[in-house]
Amino acid sequence: MVHGVEPGNQQRLWYATTRECGVGDPGHESLCSSTTCPMCNHIRCRFDIGHYGGRYGRLAQAFFFITRADLGIQVSPASSKSHLYSRSLIGSQWTALLLDSVVVGNPQAVAADDFESSIPSSGFDSIVRSESTTEQEFILYHSDAVRPLYLVLYQVPASGSI
Ligand SMILES: [Zn+2]
Repeated sequence: MVHGVEPGNQQRLWYATTRECGVGDPGHESLCSSTTCPMCNHIRCRFDIGHYGGRYGRLAQAFFFITRADLGIQVSPASSKSHLYSRSLIGSQWTALLLDSVVVGNPQAVAADDFESSIPSSGFDSIVRSESTTEQEFILYHSDAVRPLYLVLYQVPASGSI
């Protein structure tokens, strides 16, 4: 074990995805019943790892522009980075992020251009792209490595009002 590093290199990292519903919005404290809501599925730990890969394999990546990042769980220590992936399909005024507990393990560093097309080599558990902390992103490929801790909601001021 490396001094100062949690077992398994456990870290708290931000995750964002699409909300089909208003989970987390004021008055919406329950998960929705949709089986395709990415946010509720993530909170339930129903991850989509290998979904496309299992069904379509490499053909899917060639024809549907599905990247390796789509086959894994993409998280970041920078909330500003994850913010870019947060979407609401119901037009909520609230932006949602999840703070996940993530077992990063031994991450393999890759160049930014290769980040979304890489899979970990033997001996590595995840992929990391890191020029700076604000740009750092990990891709995890094991659903057991990610557990949601907190759902954080915030509003972004209208542009020009800051
Ligand atoms: Zn939902």
